Amino acid sequence: MKSRGLAAITPNAPLAPFEFERRELGPDDVVLDIAFAGICHSDIHQVRQEWGPALFPMVPGHEIAGVVTAVGDSVTKFAVGDLIGVGVFIDSCRKCTSCVQGLQQYCVEGMTGTYNTLERDGTSVAYGGYADSFIINQDYAVHIPSNLPLAGVAPLLCAGITLYSPLRTWGAGPGMKIGVMGLGGLGHMGVKFAHAMGAEVTVFSHSPDKESDALEMGADHFVVTKDTSLLKPLHKTFDLILNTVSADLDINTYLDLLTLDGTLVVIGLPGKPYSVNVGSLLNGRRRIAGSMIGGIPEIQEMLDFCGKHSIVSDVEVISAGYVNTAYERTVASDVKYRFVIDASTF
Ligand code: NAP
Ligand code: ZN
Ligand code: ZN
Repeated sequence: MKSRGLAAITPNAPLAPFEFERRELGPDDVVLDIAFAGICHSDIHQVRQEWGPALFPMVPGHEIAGVVTAVGDSVTKFAVGDLIGVGVFIDSCRKCTSCVQGLQQYCVEGMTGTYNTLERDGTSVAYGGYADSFIINQDYAVHIPSNLPLAGVAPLLCAGITLYSPLRTWGAGPGMKIGVMGLGGLGHMGVKFAHAMGAEVTVFSHSPDKESDALEMGADHFVVTKDTSLLKPLHKTFDLILNTVSADLDINTYLDLLTLDGTLVVIGLPGKPYSVNVGSLLNGRRRIAGSMIGGIPEIQEMLDFCGKHSIVSDVEVISAGYVNTAYERTVASDVKYRFVIDASTF
């Protein structure tokens, strides 16, 4: 199946128009016309090989929202015309303890990513969502509620689920004090979800001009982190802190903000190891944890939650020709709050 989109042909190369073949429709596959594709900071990390050697040409994109245009003979989950979403993985082993629990992102054999990997046949390159069309096995796609604007839905497929999942895992709700570090694509979804779940939300940001936006999204407090002495009065007060920052930082400053048994969940992945002051962990039985996206059942649950609460991402819709500029602006923390590519411009 012919597809047209954008690719980095070599590491660090600017994204350029690219035509390529996807597999033909199989019995369990669904073809979709992509309407919008979000730009995740993980796309930038991978194009720039900040996580190690990558596979090129690379068509990035794992926040995909579109409309079903064809279904294979055995497909029961989708029909032509349905709204459909695809996220960060397109397959997994389906047999391991994680997969059978619907936690495909933690597949023991490793999930099959949407791009920058080979498909499970071990030979075809997986090309991502910066393109006009996509093909996906029905078990690895989700339904999009019809009451939400589709451009704002695309980022939910990664940014949304990546914050929804830890909030659920650590029981976000009324009476909980939650901190969100970094108000970017992921962070702003964390604010919206934590607020909708009834928690008291504080944003930690190095961008003072984002304060009014944060409060409008549902944050109760906004703390500028440039002067860390301002954090002192907040020591030992947070139950849960979600770190979405895409750059290196001193994590110990934030560990000290956790209350007894509090947890700091690492979500941002700058690519370099953190140095941890063990004393900060001991004092208060604090924990550091990680969390990676979410499985298919939880992605569907998150989208249904968004439909019910009218939650979408705040997006800046761009055309394909603007993507390289959007990368620079994202790295400079100048994104409000997710760039989404209009797929009709590929
Ligand atoms: P993003 O939109 O660029 O947001 C990152 C935010 O981090 C920025 O808006 C900024 O917020 C803050 N930040 C950036 N540079 C900083 C610096 N030098 N010092 C302090 N704060 C800084 O990125 P994103 O798409 O949300 O992704 C965030 C991270 O999560 C990336 O590393 C990405 O790869 C990772 N990620 C992880 C998962 C997972 O499953 N765990 C899934 C998707 C993405 P302020 O301006 O408010 O300070
Ligand atoms: Zn992502
Ligand atoms: Zn598995």
